[in-house]
Amino acid sequence: MPELPEVEVVRRGLQDHVVDKTITAVRVHHPRAVRRHEAGPADLTARLLDARITGTDRRGKYLWLTLDGGESALLVHLGMSGQMLLGAVPNARHLRIAAVLDDGTTLSFVDQRTFGGWMLTDLVTVDGSVVPAPVAHLARDPLDPRFDVDAVVDVLRRKQSEIKRQLLDQTVVSGIGNIYADEALWRAKVNGTRLAGGLTRPKLTAVLAAAADVMRDALAQGGTSFDSLYVNVNGQSGYFDRALDAYGRDGKPCRRCGAVIRREKFMNRSSFYCPRCQPRPRR
Ligand SMILES: [Zn+2]
Repeated sequence: MPELPEVEVVRRGLQDHVVDKTITAVRVHHPRAVRRHEAGPADLTARLLDARITGTDRRGKYLWLTLDGGESALLVHLGMSGQMLLGAVPNARHLRIAAVLDDGTTLSFVDQRTFGGWMLTDLVTVDGSVVPAPVAHLARDPLDPRFDVDAVVDVLRRKQSEIKRQLLDQTVVSGIGNIYADEALWRAKVNGTRLAGGLTRPKLTAVLAAAADVMRDALAQGGTSFDSLYVNVNGQSGYFDRALDAYGRDGKPCRRCGAVIRREKFMNRSSFYCPRCQPRPRR
């Protein structure tokens, strides 16, 4: 699943190319891609027609286009494999939605596994930020200028469950998935199975700082293309996968200490960690 950096790469591409454009035609090619829009595909296309895109924004793994000066938003969830592409679509077999803009550009939503989609939604103000109603329950992400590290540390200090589980909980901190959780924990030298509430305040602060740092680094390289379906609006993959220190490196030497990186099952996924830099807790 694309995480914050991969979604932010897409948002930035859209910001550069679709803002101040008006939608002149919309076609839904697959109803599953608009299933979250409860009023149905016909309502979505009717309301998008002649709508003006006035901005882009993101929280965690969700991005949206603000329409008509903030009255509503087109909320985009990339799911496992969603792509927002400008111009020609290389593989039309997975084209789910297409919108034509008044400069002639086609904005396409391509989604091989169809877990993603578009929906039109109202914007609401929560804690001083304007966000689409369906994402109002999500915590701020570490790259949000108003992310409050101390407040999140306070929340973590009260959690008697694993720190990695907490990093993946989008209501505690949003935008972090399996890849960047493992990378942040490696950078902070913390084993993901340690209890959040058992870590010191400086250690928890370091974990959150590492999460922000690794996502900023990934963003600078266009995101991680661990799954070849993660692409920017021009269909290009990022190359941060080469810079990953833990995720996907089982059997390889830790870049810090040389110990062999381990892979273990965690929450129906895998965790990658260095057994020497990130020793497992003694229970
Ligand atoms: Zn190590």
